[in-house]
This record gives sequence, C-alpha cells and structure tokens, in this order.
Amino acid sequence: MKSEKRSVNQVRPTILLNPGPVTLSDRVRRKFLEEDLCHREPEFADLVLDIKARLRRVYPEAEAQYEAILFTGSGTCAVEAIFQSLAPRKGKTLVIANGVYGERIASMLEVQGKPYVLVKSAWPEPMNLVEAERILQRDSSITHVAAIHNETTTGRLNDLQSLGALCRRYGKPLLLDTVSSFAGEEIRFTEWNVAALASVANKCIHGAPGICFVLARKDLLEDGTTEASSLYLDLFKMYKEQKTGFSPFTQATHICVLLQEALKELEEAGGWQSRRARYREISSRIRREFQALGIELFLPEEAYCSMLTSFQLPAGRTYEQVHDALKAAGFVIYAGQAGLYHSIFRIANMGDIKDSDVDRLIEAMGTVVR
Ligand SMILES: *Cc1c(COP(=O)(O)O)cnc(C)c1O
Repeated sequence: MKSEKRSVNQVRPTILLNPGPVTLSDRVRRKFLEEDLCHREPEFADLVLDIKARLRRVYPEAEAQYEAILFTGSGTCAVEAIFQSLAPRKGKTLVIANGVYGERIASMLEVQGKPYVLVKSAWPEPMNLVEAERILQRDSSITHVAAIHNETTTGRLNDLQSLGALCRRYGKPLLLDTVSSFAGEEIRFTEWNVAALASVANKCIHGAPGICFVLARKDLLEDGTTEASSLYLDLFKMYKEQKTGFSPFTQATHICVLLQEALKELEEAGGWQSRRARYREISSRIRREFQALGIELFLPEEAYCSMLTSFQLPAGRTYEQVHDALKAAGFVIYAGQAGLYHSIFRIANMGDIKDSDVDRLIEAMGTVVR
C-alpha cells in the first residue's frame, strides 16, 4: 500500500512489526551519515574489537570464557558458521526442532553430509525432550546437541532450562540459535552447557541487517580443529584473523558503525534485562488488547517469548487483508510460514517502538476486525 494513504500528520516512519529487520532509533539511524570506513584500516579494526568486547559483555557471564566472531551476512550465516565449523563428521548432532529454524539446522547438516538425528515436534508444540533424552541414553555416538532458543515460527520461548540440564547431565555441548533472543531474553551459558551460539545485529540488539555473530567458548576455538568445508564460514579461521580486529573479507562496515551505536544504546538503557522488561510491557499489552478485539492467541499465553506473538487470523479475514490494512496505517506485520500462512499472523515488538505506536496499532486493528 502506498504511503499517501497514511494520515498527513503522521510523523513516525512505518513501524516494522516483523521479526527483524527492526525500526531503528534516530540515534542509530543517524550513524549512517558518518564517514565511510575501509575494512583494512586500523580505525575499522578498533571498531571491530570494541563491538566484540561489547557483545561479550551483554551477558557478563560470557565475558571471560567466550569470544565473539563477526561475519557479514544474515542470521542464517552465523548459524551455518557454527554447524560448518563445530558439528562433527565423526560424531552425531542431535537436533531438536519445533519450527522452521530448528528444521533449517537439520537441512544445513544434510547439505554438508554430516550425521544427525532430528527430534521433530509439530510447530505449535514444545520441544520433545522425552524423546531427546531417550536418544541421549541409547545412542552413544551423539556428540553435540542443537536447538533454537526462541522459535520465531510461533514465538515460543523454548525450555532451555530443561534442555540445558540434559546437556550437562549427558556431557554434550549445546549449539544454540539465539538469533531472535540475544539481548532480549535470559541466556545461561554455563548451566545450559553452551559451546556456541549465533545471533544477529538486526533483531533484539536494534542494529541494521548485514552483520551476524557467533559467541563461542574460547578454549574450543583455541584447541579445537575445524569441521568446515567452507572458507568463509570457518569460525576457527575467522577467530584467528579477527583477534586483532582484522577482517579477511570485506565487512558491512556501515552496519558495524550502527551496531556499535546500538550496543551503546542497549547498555545505557540497562542491558538485556531492561530490554526484556520493555518488550514484555509492549507484547503483553498487544496480546491483551487484540484478545479484547476477539483475536485469539495461537499458543498458550505462558509459552510466548517477550518479543513476538502469533495470533489466529480474525474470522473472515485473509492474511493479505489484515496485512494491507495495517500497512496502510503504517505497520508491517508478518505472515505465518508454510502451512500456517492461512491461519496465523505474527507481531514482533522489537526495535524503536513507542507507546503511541502501540496505541495506533490497536486502533488500526480495531478497524480491521469491525
Ligand atoms: C531471524 C532468524 C534466523 C535467521 O534468519 P535470517 O533471515 O537469515 O536473518 C534464524 N533463526 C531464528 C530463530 C530467527 O528468528
């Protein structure tokens, strides 16, 4: 829909309620106008080292034992770097999936020809930890466990407390996709036996898309050997080269400048705890108000993460109708994936969202259902 359909006195940009990229704050957006950087110059190396240090500090528990490694690419690039570099050929990865992103990890291992076992639940269901434990008990060739923290397919915050306890009990390193939860939910590195996790600049950190990163245990990076059959996605190679801030390949330099600013903004606002509190405030209000309009939640309320909600489409409305009406009112929402396209829609609440934006969203949704 064209922007001229929006009311003339509206000063806010279109608000992105899709799960990344997000609406940037003015402070971060202004950084686009700064000087251009060359990725082979010392100024850029300093910037990279500063970003790596700030990423380690988002969760103070990670600071001493984990190292951040930056890649230019979307979130999938960081996830794939983990499974390229750390998932073994002479071992087996137990992949626990209850949505698109968990199943994507299995696809990555499939195309790499690496052994894995997939424990798959229907998308609306929790991870099947009973089956996961059964496999851990009887298959001694399992060396690693892979999972998704916040399954963005539905907005379910997976029970990492229970899965992490299993990983510790059976002594299996956990490879974790925290693409849509890093900086917006709690992550317990030691308790969950996290060997490496992947995330991205443009979700809960509120940067622009183009840079993703892996946080991996330093001892693993120092002592381990790579399993990668990719040059670009080799964590070990990138780790060594990036120790000095040097980037062997061209990085998204402008996006790094924005990422540094977004990390400063996150720290000044009180870190991940404050961000989660703000997300919860917005998402619980949206859930309450949409339910009051007769729109039903797709999952039980207590299953949701802080930053995304999946709703049943309102009776008699297609996704396109809901999407187009909200777009005309200045909001971009997100469809359900694959089979869920015709039954749900999703509202993410990351990025620079003001209370007045939520007021307008609720008003616009009221118009859609009436
Ligand atoms: C967004 C997302 C990804 C990565 O998606 P890209 O489009 O590659 O950025 C991976 N896993 C989860 C859980 C996500 O939400």
